[in-house]
Amino acid sequence: MNTKEYLSIREELQAQQVALVAVSKTKPVEAIQEAYQLGQRIFGENRALELRDKYEVLPKDIEWHMIGHLQTNKVKYIAPFVHLIHSIDKISLLKEVNKRAAQNNRVIDVLIQVHIAEEASKHGFDETELFQLLQETNLETLPNINIIGLMGMATFTSDQDQVKQEFQHLQRLFEQVKTTAFEAKEDFNVLSMGMSGDYLTAIQQGSNMVRLGSIIFGAR
Ligand SMILES: *Cc1c(COP(=O)(O)O)cnc(C)c1O
Repeated sequence: MNTKEYLSIREELQAQQVALVAVSKTKPVEAIQEAYQLGQRIFGENRALELRDKYEVLPKDIEWHMIGHLQTNKVKYIAPFVHLIHSIDKISLLKEVNKRAAQNNRVIDVLIQVHIAEEASKHGFDETELFQLLQETNLETLPNINIIGLMGMATFTSDQDQVKQEFQHLQRLFEQVKTTAFEAKEDFNVLSMGMSGDYLTAIQQGSNMVRLGSIIFGAR
């Protein structure tokens, strides 16, 4: 891992009260142990089985975040321990997480993934679907999930202006949801946006949780 880079980024993020998810997908357990020894406790993975396998062999005080597209049939593998799921992109997935959380006597924190990028390949709800979800889903029927914020990914482009506009869009939606649908919900406060290539722009636009992989662990 890039120890010096990691420590300096961590300090910079701490000063701004931005949470750091160290994205360890495809990286060996040894790389995670190295970061753990430096004090990193939040790790993100994008495949359920890889996440489960790493959970089993690594220290139990790690907070595991699921950041990638999650198939409903894989929820059961991570439901016993996952700390935060960033990638809720369908109502059926939300319901499945609720069901598996209940089976484990847990309430699982989740973020709703919003599609803000130009690319069709990125998952998530668009603006209309987001408000439909919040209006039409009776969240009281899903007592084992707790929606604590939004997540989004910007278009993969060198055009930082476009990236900035996409993050701004998500930030506005976040404020809108917070002041309308979740007016009385104090723990709706996570805005997960920003990766290695665009996290500085994301923070300028209000991100308070960044997901950094290659800048910490090297190219995949
Ligand atoms: C891989 C991944 C990241 C980290 O990407 P880097 O460019 O390596 O920082 C962040 N978020 C999601 C959803 C990812 O899949």
